[in-house]
Amino acid sequence: MTARIIDGKATAADLRAAVAVEARRIAAAHGLVPGLAVVLVGDNAASKAYVGSKSRAVVEAGMRPFDFHLPVATSANELLGLIGELNNDAAVHGILVQLPLPSQIDAARIITNIDPAKDVDGFHPLNAGRLASGLPALAPCTPVGCIKLAKAVHGSLSGLDAVVIGRSNIVGKPLAQLLLGENATVTIAHSRTRDLAGLCARADLLFAAIGRPEFIRGGWIRPGATVIDVGINRVAGDGGKSRIVGDVCFAEAVAVAGAITPVPGGVGPMTIACLLVNTLRAACMQAGLPVPEI
Ligand code: NAD
Repeated sequence: MTARIIDGKATAADLRAAVAVEARRIAAAHGLVPGLAVVLVGDNAASKAYVGSKSRAVVEAGMRPFDFHLPVATSANELLGLIGELNNDAAVHGILVQLPLPSQIDAARIITNIDPAKDVDGFHPLNAGRLASGLPALAPCTPVGCIKLAKAVHGSLSGLDAVVIGRSNIVGKPLAQLLLGENATVTIAHSRTRDLAGLCARADLLFAAIGRPEFIRGGWIRPGATVIDVGINRVAGDGGKSRIVGDVCFAEAVAVAGAITPVPGGVGPMTIACLLVNTLRAACMQAGLPVPEI
């Protein structure tokens, strides 16, 4: 058996197109142009590439980008000053501070100072709490993208056994909350979990968000299961070049799973598309307009 490859690029392109249609509609009907501020501190190469693609996607979706690139020596108070200005700027509906931040800045302090209504990353404790309480919330983009990919395969996730490996605030925990909201039966595994292979073998839906290259082996996966690989790991490739692999050993897993996301081209493109969805939602909520169902 060879698994169906879940095309995150195509799904993300559809989502981005749907956001662009809605953005055009609310601009024409209400004169509202959603604005996203992206703040980068320092010169981390991967972060620079991420913020570049986010800004391009914002423009393509008919929204307004506000890009800020601050020097690596920026103090926490300087960054908080900018966050305060963006919180008060009516043209800015979403604020994203690219992580990781330089070591002199406490990321948690920065995140808690973003207006929760503009927290399009969904990392503010208020949004995390609302998500955990089953209330409408701006939810983190990567987990939302994972849910959309799983639903593209299954339609409904109700009653399915889901195993989430990883318990970070950015991926694992919010993903588990979203899965509960979809009525899946959820198990969260982490670095102290015993018998990870035994847990994986029970999963109809297996989500890997670990940060260890090709850690999940094909033999652990339940035949026919859906595997969503969040991991992005750079490893040495042929000819001295590096390549990106996921947390799942794709070559083994593709022979066992029913459906699987590739890396790259799976979850990654969905993250940016879901950021656009959150920006649109945030803009509508701030303007008192109905939130489009995308
Ligand atoms: P993290 O380091 O914050 O968390 C990793 C989690 O994995 C931890 O909860 C830890 O308990 C668990 N873990 C570590 N070793 C383990 C082991 N041996 N067995 C079981 N669990 C183990 O990482 P994160 O921010 O959640 O990111 C996870 C991965 O997802 C990384 O590769 C990251 O690059 C990637 N990521 C991708 C996207 C995307 O857009 N595709 C977005 C965010 C993160």
